[in-house]
Amino acid sequence: MSDYKIETKCVQAGYTPKNGEPREIPIIYSTTFKYDTSEDMGKLFDLEASGYFYSRLQNPTCDLVAAKIAELEGGTAAMLTGSGQAANFYSIFNLANCGDHVVCSASIYGGTFNLFNVTMRKMGIEFTFVEPDCTPEELEAAFRPNTKAVFGETIANPALTVLDIEKFAKAAHAHGVPLIVDNTFATPINCRPFEWGADIVTHSTTKYIDGHGVSVGGAIVDSGKFDWTAHADKFPGLCTPDESYHGVTYTERFGLAGAFITKATAQLMRDFGSIQSPQNAFYLNLGLESLHVRMPRHCANGQAVAEFLQGHPKVAWVTYPGLPGDKYYAIAQKYLPNGSCGVVSFGVKGGRAAAEKFMAGLRVFAIETHVADARSCCLHPASATHRQMNDDELRAAGVSPDLVRMSCGLEDAADLIADIKQALEA
Ligand code: PLP
Repeated sequence: MSDYKIETKCVQAGYTPKNGEPREIPIIYSTTFKYDTSEDMGKLFDLEASGYFYSRLQNPTCDLVAAKIAELEGGTAAMLTGSGQAANFYSIFNLANCGDHVVCSASIYGGTFNLFNVTMRKMGIEFTFVEPDCTPEELEAAFRPNTKAVFGETIANPALTVLDIEKFAKAAHAHGVPLIVDNTFATPINCRPFEWGADIVTHSTTKYIDGHGVSVGGAIVDSGKFDWTAHADKFPGLCTPDESYHGVTYTERFGLAGAFITKATAQLMRDFGSIQSPQNAFYLNLGLESLHVRMPRHCANGQAVAEFLQGHPKVAWVTYPGLPGDKYYAIAQKYLPNGSCGVVSFGVKGGRAAAEKFMAGLRVFAIETHVADARSCCLHPASATHRQMNDDELRAAGVSPDLVRMSCGLEDAADLIADIKQALEA
């Protein structure tokens, strides 16, 4: 489907039924798959034949949906994971081992920060967090000889900083390592990071891609462009035999187009098993079928709410990349010309207590940890998702104690604004 427009791909990519087959992606609810001979099955284990043997590693329903996401991002291969956290963990752990190092934008989702800064640190992987607006020289200074990847979010949750993908890609490539971009908030409808030099894209599909708050999931997509073999000394896991998988060398057997995702599937999914359930993948595909219709409405509602908040006397500040005057307006015009997302962050005058009072007065927006859903919702990160961070870490991640994150759903913008107005003025 590569010649079709992204709207057509949202609806139809990934699965082309043959004569008499189901029109909608079938849910293959089977843990295991039957073979006529042990030899047939052995070829699968040796990665000599493609096919399914156990749904902890791979499932046909998940693969059809992953193939659609790969087409939307313009990648060569993709896999679904059980959550966005699993996707980000795999994306790094597929490259970095104990003793390795990663350069990461400081402006990322709190859960990802925790995963990297606490849990993966315990596994012996070091992270250096850099300001997303750092100069090329400051970025350069963060690299070490053992750096294996660079990581950032297209639009950071909840700070709404926009990543200068080209700047980060250039620095990563100068050091022979890939740029991994979490594209959750922008979705491939609003930004395709591979077009700007990123090498691997991850998603929390739990957000806009599902879009209805029903299924937790993640995805990893490979652009197929990063030449692991040109930096084979840095990536022995991809470029030398994997003794835990019958001595296969992923780059030799699967080429640049398939090595990264095949290794993550054959090795990490085998050992950690955090695959998405076929039922969730089916729901995800329903979300994907309308993603191109929903995203413009989320963005239009976000823009209308941001403009209203900007003019309200009880509002201390507003952050939304679509607002002229926003720190990231110019960069958003470059990377997100069709809109950014439906999430708006702002501060209520009066700080933490005023923010909590405002949220309690909302009727259409519900208090939830969730974001990027058809139903509007809101969150005070300092007392919820980011509560494990101290004040310095909060500020470094672009989250102030008075920050309220509003996620504008698919309702009518006038109703959303009226709800915010009455809660601010109560
Ligand atoms: N990445 C981003 C940008 C997120 O916003 C989130 C969750 O909010 C995650 C990753 C983690 O995804 P999940 O909750 O699906 O594990």
